[in-house]
Amino acid sequence: MGQPILEVEHLKKSYVNNVPILDDVSFSLQKGEVVVIVGPSGCGKSTFLRCINRLEEIDTGVLKLNGVSYEKEKKNISKVREKIGMVFQSYDLFPNMTILNNLLLAPMKVQKRNKEEVKKEAEQLLDRVGLLDKKDNYPRQLSGGQKQRVAIGSAIIRKPKAFLMDEPLSNLDAKLRAQMRVELVKLHKQLDTTIIYVTHDQTEAMTLGSKIVVMKDGLIQQVGAPQSIYDNPVNLFVAGFLGSPSMNFFRCTVKAEENNRTALLLDDAKTVKKVYLDGTRGKQIADRYNGRHVILGIRPEDIYELDEAKKLGIENESVDVDEPVVNREMLGAEVILYFDEQGKTLAVRLSPENQTQVGEKVSLYFDMEKAHVFDPETEENIFVS
Ligand code: ADP
Repeated sequence: MGQPILEVEHLKKSYVNNVPILDDVSFSLQKGEVVVIVGPSGCGKSTFLRCINRLEEIDTGVLKLNGVSYEKEKKNISKVREKIGMVFQSYDLFPNMTILNNLLLAPMKVQKRNKEEVKKEAEQLLDRVGLLDKKDNYPRQLSGGQKQRVAIGSAIIRKPKAFLMDEPLSNLDAKLRAQMRVELVKLHKQLDTTIIYVTHDQTEAMTLGSKIVVMKDGLIQQVGAPQSIYDNPVNLFVAGFLGSPSMNFFRCTVKAEENNRTALLLDDAKTVKKVYLDGTRGKQIADRYNGRHVILGIRPEDIYELDEAKKLGIENESVDVDEPVVNREMLGAEVILYFDEQGKTLAVRLSPENQTQVGEKVSLYFDMEKAHVFDPETEENIFVS
């Protein structure tokens, strides 16, 4: 890998009373990457972007653009901002200017570029995002999605080294958001851009990012490719945050049994329920946790009814749910059943042929090869950490 475009080393930032909003955050961005920073509202995502763009002063840490520390550019921080384009959730368009003039403004006024050259570029850009016929319209004549495309265009035309996007799609309705996600992926490919994208929406993170950074309370929890984090979350928070419906969690007691089998007894169950971890995973849990509590995590798609369980060869131990189905969501390509279990909602994703209705009881089968086990104190994923 070459020189990262952006490097953040041990960044700390607090607003009041030295309460850290960002606590020792380190991060690097390679050319061409789309890094999505995802986490619940208030975890410090916007603050992080604002520090990178120096809209906020930092307490300690080092920030580098193309290997050069910001400190060296201290007197001229606008130079740093010029190299980093920012797209916010509000569209930032000037209402009294046409779409074309909105695009021309920064390159001509700030960057003092040649009008004809920039105009040609702006028209090409509008053509690419399907808005050339709107160039003489005003922002109020455009839909939300169209305005957002212009806003992204006005960042692109400044030719920044990297884009910072702060929840740019959050003002759009669900359908437009999905369309814009596709557009952004296309734009990224066509323009070979580098993007840091902030969102609280885990679906956006999973679909857009070549790399995801999961944050909680100002701390980076995990960095990696979307699928790899989804399959191997390092802790309870990451496991619960990525995926919809969320991973199901059960408090369990570990019981080593004969034949190298390790049983997990689901606590608080009305009838005795157990599932088994076999092989090295089972041994690992038995060695460390026999007689103690752990938290079992299983995703809705790793739970099956008998027919499918048989096909997978995992029909040995069923979990008979005490309560009947409380909700059934038919989504076309899948059906999601919801149960009350251990006082919480248990979600199960099944094939759409499944005919179980609200009010009916079922036996479920867990694909334990896919299960995760968490330490209840440290909340770490025992198999990953
Ligand atoms: P996110 O983007 O993840 O929702 P923010 O970075 O906006 O989170 O905020 C992180 C925390 O910092 C929140 O607790 C928020 O209240 C606090 N915060 C943000 N901006 C300021 C500010 N200018 N002054 C004081 N506290 C702030």
